Amino acid sequence: MQHILAVDIGGTKIAVGIAERSVFAERGTLARIVTERVPAPGTPAAVVPRVIAIARELLGELSDPDPLLSGIGIAIGGPLDHREGVVINFPHLPEWRNVPLRDMLSDALGVPALLDNDANLGALGEHAWGAGRGVDDMVYMTISTGIGGGVIVGGRLLHGVGSAAGEVGHITVQTGGPRCPCGNAGCLEMMASGTAIARRARQAVAEFPDAGAGILEQAGGDPLSIRAEGVWAAALEGDALAIGLWEETAEYLAIGLAAIVHVLAPQVMVLGGGVAQTDERFLDAVRSRMRDHVGYVPLERISVVRSALGSNSPLIGAAVLALEAGRDRQ
Ligand SMILES: [Zn+2]
Repeated sequence: MQHILAVDIGGTKIAVGIAERSVFAERGTLARIVTERVPAPGTPAAVVPRVIAIARELLGELSDPDPLLSGIGIAIGGPLDHREGVVINFPHLPEWRNVPLRDMLSDALGVPALLDNDANLGALGEHAWGAGRGVDDMVYMTISTGIGGGVIVGGRLLHGVGSAAGEVGHITVQTGGPRCPCGNAGCLEMMASGTAIARRARQAVAEFPDAGAGILEQAGGDPLSIRAEGVWAAALEGDALAIGLWEETAEYLAIGLAAIVHVLAPQVMVLGGGVAQTDERFLDAVRSRMRDHVGYVPLERISVVRSALGSNSPLIGAAVLALEAGRDRQ
């Protein structure tokens, strides 16, 4: 029986999934997913052999006495060349520079592989099996520690120059805002990611210590322990400072999403990642503020929805890519 393998390498976790090729093609589900912390020290020399070992374990566990692998799809963050299958730089882990990851996995397991950016594959996964099924034009945005995105146009993933299309986290939403590692200032990622929400909350609590009691309480009294989740919890308890911080976050996201709407007018905008999963009320606030920033585009025909696949969307997208990698071996 032909199988496919999906790999997702993140800054803290690696995930490897396996499925029978025909079952995934029909239902979009993986039979088994193994998730582990990135093996220390996180270099390619540590991570790649572990991914290969998990893949072999998964193949060995199958009841099929002679399992065949037809293709591998690989998701990873950071700048990469999807045509060459090379990770140019993965900033969350050490020594990931110009790593020919696609060929390393393909050679070790003896089957064709394809590689793409994790946010692009999040878009591909949601388009094939999630909240964007059946539409031609869709944008996926993942809002967690950072903000990434992927764009589907005419049913196909848009790569752009240098595989760099869909870098929605670096749209400027605050002129003169904080400097971003990308070189720009006031990027959406610097204002509305989980990391940014925590940073803004720390600043607000330092400025208004009395008003920030609810946020501090969620952080056990330690400003350094303030996290976006705690700010959300404080907002739900009615903390005015926390509510204000989430309103600002909705505003920044609305400005970023409105910029995308004006260029692409997609049918569906899928929001993934922890920040977007908070609550339908937060999404309502984002939708309502988008109306303030969009004029000519018929916003009522654009759905802004939460991801249907949750944190698995890049892995499901990698499996879609694995089908494509192994197409000739069907
Ligand atoms: Zn940036």
